[in-house]
Amino acid sequence: MVNLNELPRRRYTNGPTPLEHLEHLSTQLGGPQIWIKRDDLLGLTQGGNKTRKLEFLIADALAHGADTLVTAGGVQSNHCRLALSAARREGLDCHLVLEEDLGSDGAPVPADAGGNPPKLTGNFLLFDLLGADSTEVHTNGSDLVARANELAAELKTQGKKPYVIPVGGSNVTGALGYVDCAQELLTQFAEVGLDVSSILAPSGSAGMQAGLIAGLHRADSQIPVVGINVSRTQEDQEPKIVNLVDEVASFLELPPVPRERSLGLGDYFGTGYALPTPEMVEAVRLFASTEGILLDPVYTGKAAAGLIDLIRQDRFGDDDNVVFIHSGGVPGLYARAGAFA
Ligand SMILES: *Cc1c(COP(=O)(O)O)cnc(C)c1O
Repeated sequence: MVNLNELPRRRYTNGPTPLEHLEHLSTQLGGPQIWIKRDDLLGLTQGGNKTRKLEFLIADALAHGADTLVTAGGVQSNHCRLALSAARREGLDCHLVLEEDLGSDGAPVPADAGGNPPKLTGNFLLFDLLGADSTEVHTNGSDLVARANELAAELKTQGKKPYVIPVGGSNVTGALGYVDCAQELLTQFAEVGLDVSSILAPSGSAGMQAGLIAGLHRADSQIPVVGINVSRTQEDQEPKIVNLVDEVASFLELPPVPRERSLGLGDYFGTGYALPTPEMVEAVRLFASTEGILLDPVYTGKAAAGLIDLIRQDRFGDDDNVVFIHSGGVPGLYARAGAFA
């Protein structure tokens, strides 16, 4: 078994993130005891789950002698914000390949037209403040990965040493951040004496969930990680989780992970990625008004809507302890304020 402590890693957070009991929310929902893992308090600029992935990805970039990062995502990508923030910390250049959002009719919408919020808000504003070396915005559905690789090749001809980070930082290297988080969680459960029946987390590019599943398996823990999909049906998401879990397990030389541990529920993303749902709005309002905790509208708001629905369907026992992973993303709230009007 590969020892995580021997792999190259940078540190962007001091110590573990808090594990907090949400007493008011648990009472209000009248179901299990809800706990929250505050990964919205990770380091870098308004940190979130990408901070953990980047600790391993940036170390790998530096080990390869890179002086420039190239990465890709949506115009409100948390991953791009945090990769850029890490670049500032490390003194690296950083180029962002971005894609426009889709409108509620499924058609591409320019971010500043048709009543949508102006572009220079939320994460897009932060790309500017953090001084991205370049940003380019492509129409929705463009092949961002191909463009990122092309840009890296161009930079190389200019004498740069680029390192391309995949969308969401979700490859084996990035997922190691959440293998490590699984261990951090188990240590916290032991400290509190907490018997946890389920962990819930949003599932997008699946690096966070795959890392958690592999990390729990590695520690012989049977706690299930229920993914709440933010853009795909169960049928489309689960193979993505399974593939990454298998790759991580094989990299770490773990015994095979049973397929049924990769669970991604497809009932809560509404009509598409980043498109608001009434249940998301309710969840964001409920966490804020009961606990003073801000969720984001794209990931944690929809995952919390899933948690609330599962509680209302009586899918947990009253004495269960359920842990919700708050993966960050709060800057995106301000870019989508219209959903709360
Ligand atoms: C990227 C992101 C996720 C999803 O994580 P994946 O590893 O892509 O599945 C969840 N929450 C926030 C805030 C994110 O930025």
